[in-house]
Amino acid sequence: MVPRPAATLILLREGAQGPEVLMIQRNLNAAFLGGAYVFPGGALEPQDSDPRIATRVLGLTDEKASARLNLASGGLAYYVAAIRECFEESGILLLNDKRESLIAYSRADRLHSYRTKPFLELLEAEDLFIPADKLAYYGHWITAPGRARRFDARFFVALAPEGQEGSHDAAEAVHQMWVRPRDALERGARGEIELVFATQQTLKELARFDNCAAAISFCLHLKEIETNRACRAVGKDGERIFRRADPQYFEIHWSDPEETGTTSYELLPGVPKRLDRFVVRIIAPNPGAMTGPGTNTYLVGEDALAVIDPGPAIDSHIEKILEAGKGRIRWILCTHTHLDHSPAAAALREATGAQVLGRPAPEGQDATFKPNFVVENGQRIEVGEGCTLRAIHTPGHASNHLCYLLEQTRMLFTGDHVMQGSTVVINPPDGDMRAYLASLEALLKEDLAILAPGHGYLIGAPHKEIRRLLAHRLGREAKVKAALEALGPATPEALLPKVYDDVPERMHRWAARSLAAHLEKLVAERSVRIEGERFALVQLPPRER
Ligand SMILES: [Zn+2]
Repeated sequence: MVPRPAATLILLREGAQGPEVLMIQRNLNAAFLGGAYVFPGGALEPQDSDPRIATRVLGLTDEKASARLNLASGGLAYYVAAIRECFEESGILLLNDKRESLIAYSRADRLHSYRTKPFLELLEAEDLFIPADKLAYYGHWITAPGRARRFDARFFVALAPEGQEGSHDAAEAVHQMWVRPRDALERGARGEIELVFATQQTLKELARFDNCAAAISFCLHLKEIETNRACRAVGKDGERIFRRADPQYFEIHWSDPEETGTTSYELLPGVPKRLDRFVVRIIAPNPGAMTGPGTNTYLVGEDALAVIDPGPAIDSHIEKILEAGKGRIRWILCTHTHLDHSPAAAALREATGAQVLGRPAPEGQDATFKPNFVVENGQRIEVGEGCTLRAIHTPGHASNHLCYLLEQTRMLFTGDHVMQGSTVVINPPDGDMRAYLASLEALLKEDLAILAPGHGYLIGAPHKEIRRLLAHRLGREAKVKAALEALGPATPEALLPKVYDDVPERMHRWAARSLAAHLEKLVAERSVRIEGERFALVQLPPRER
């Protein structure tokens, strides 16, 4: 079922103890969210796109509105619908008079009889205008598949017109209240009122603001609005709904674009999972602290296949790859030569006659890895009709690390350069923090749709994730500097508990390696110098700071 376009208006007003938001309780018998407390809103109606209404919109064109909502056209109708629905459901009228100021509440009170009439009639008869520029586009929520009704709702935030208390319409809504977001959440938690997920999330975000002006200004300046399209999948707990913040979310969408709800939400070693037309994933049975659920082996292509990261040399895993590959395996690509990624390449070559591609193993890594071809940055492998892999050299986690971009679908196989569910260890001397950050920066220049990591689920919103990783490392680097500032010259052992105070102690052994990488980077950049066993901040003379 295609979700119906809808618009929601979150009205804020200044209360005695901070901002309050208008909520209405939907009629228990309502077909959608019966009984729940929601913000006013509803489905778009044909009248919302009436060109005569468009002439009464202030401050926004359809072109601009559509660009803001990331639509080809028709964006303005959402703004109109938000204001119309709010009036119909709550009686609050966010309209301007001819002088382009909000209409007085005394006048708004006299217009309630229009609530059941076409909106245009009100606008024309009373000569009123829609101040669309007063609405800040704030959220995008799409109802999960499988419900009787589904909406594709745009949420807007606006300051409530002064003096209008509003009154519910007694049909769609049965109750209404002005409430502080925090109080609404608490009442929801106590089970006094029902709040659905999108409402809860919105309330949580709004609860951060001390006054309406700050909230509105924040909303008006939001750059990117994320789409929250709840999805369904099946697994050991039966059918479940997943939200954008869940690690399974993007993989479910990618592997089930038609929203059948039949894809699996689990990471099951040894069970091949088709991710799309070109890609099947088999997880090796080597779960662990460093490998998460196990190493992801990807089979890429249709008639001919490339295997990306054959994984550890575990017989059962190699058998699964051969079984899924059914005589079509022509290339074996390794992102790097750590022992959880490349050792199965030799046996797989033996069994298939496929060519092994990658970059030679540095000392101390998988010595069995002997590529037939050494892959250079930018090289392409034609896996078949309409399926090309382009190599991107991404040193950092390992000096010979490569990512592979499936150019047609823009899926990037990231190996351990980016992994899902944890931060990769940068282990010098082969691991190099400066190179790692530069390699992340380089990926920001690529057009990417999704990341297929060496461990864990597919990762969506690639650029956002890469920027998050960069920020995370630079944040850690700042902690290294702060610790050196506080301690004075210090050994890595003294720095470790301060710099990684947020990391469980059982992981400190690995954190120590990343700390060494951070120190190495800072020394190379001359921000830190070595004094025997200890590291010290380089203090620049004041004028050079
Ligand atoms: Zn790995």
